[in-house]
Amino acid sequence: MGTHSVWVLEYARSPVHPVSGVLYGAHNKGTMNLPFAYILIKTAGAVALVDVGHDANDFGGEIANSIGVTGWTPPEVVLSECGVRPEDVTQIFLTHAHFDHIGGLKFFPNATIYLQKKELESWMWILAKGPRFRSLQAGLNPADILYLTQANIEGRLELVDGDRENALPGIHLYPAHDTHTAGSQYVVVDRGGADKLVLSGDVIYTYQNLTGDDPSNPCFVPPGLANGSQTKLIEAADEMLAIVGNDERRIIPVHEEKLAELYPSRVSDRGLQIIEVCLAENEVSRV
Ligand SMILES: [Zn+2]
Repeated sequence: MGTHSVWVLEYARSPVHPVSGVLYGAHNKGTMNLPFAYILIKTAGAVALVDVGHDANDFGGEIANSIGVTGWTPPEVVLSECGVRPEDVTQIFLTHAHFDHIGGLKFFPNATIYLQKKELESWMWILAKGPRFRSLQAGLNPADILYLTQANIEGRLELVDGDRENALPGIHLYPAHDTHTAGSQYVVVDRGGADKLVLSGDVIYTYQNLTGDDPSNPCFVPPGLANGSQTKLIEAADEMLAIVGNDERRIIPVHEEKLAELYPSRVSDRGLQIIEVCLAENEVSRV
């Protein structure tokens, strides 16, 4: 048993997400159920989140409605399933700045926020380019960038430039630049020895990004929605697999419905999945 507990907490879902957004080149393949979730990590003296979901009551909610997201549940309800209050959260590691990963920041007033410097710079650049570049803005709520500025004034923003090992003990941040977004990063939870987890952000949406249609003869198929390069997405996926010794289950994609089958899980009263990836010693199971 390591010193970190990790749960994936679903907070909304899209029952009608286009498969082509998840798998590059999957044209005319219809829609799929896509969970929306964030990750809670409890470790000695710290309560961390990897991404924070969105706020249904601002422009992020409008983006969500436009892509069929339903069942949004506020963080105080979602986190209460694990006995955590939003104000208890001390660190937030943002994989990237799409609305469904960053838009809930306002619910966590005490947390220090970690984001790649390149992610913030690239969104500022895209916004400055004007409406002809708006295809690159897909998934961004500009108010979230404003919120980062506010958090910065409050001394709660850490802009990470490349690798940041032990952001918390055993929690490492690694860049995956020019992939899903310009400044994406992923999170490694190192529980000692070979016991490592990769929290992939949207560099990996589902295990099919690692295997294609045939897991017995795997082929990388990068996500369809990407501002960066397909090659960089595949290289980042390969890097993640190397970190976990090719054990795909140790890569945790928050939009992957199958997580609930791979790990102990239960469904909350609101119909949302609570997935328990690992437990620290002395931590009680929430499933
Ligand atoms: Zn995204």
